[in-house]
Amino acid sequence: MHIVLGFLVAFVIVVLLTRSRAATRACRWREERSGNRGALRKYRCMACGAEAFTSTDGPPDTCRDPNKRG
Ligand SMILES: [Zn+2]
Repeated sequence: MHIVLGFLVAFVIVVLLTRSRAATRACRWREERSGNRGALRKYRCMACGAEAFTSTDGPPDTCRDPNKRG
């Protein structure tokens, strides 16, 4: 019975972690036309300061928080 409870707790923790990761998608990307490179468009995140290049119309849909990189 304790094992089942342990699995349940672990499952809840995983769900919470996944949700908190999804919350990092709250980046607010702004296009920086001066930084464009050919077909690549430069975007800067107003929330965490990350920079990203995309070749599509919209801004990136992920957060690239530099603090979370090694
Ligand atoms: Zn960001």
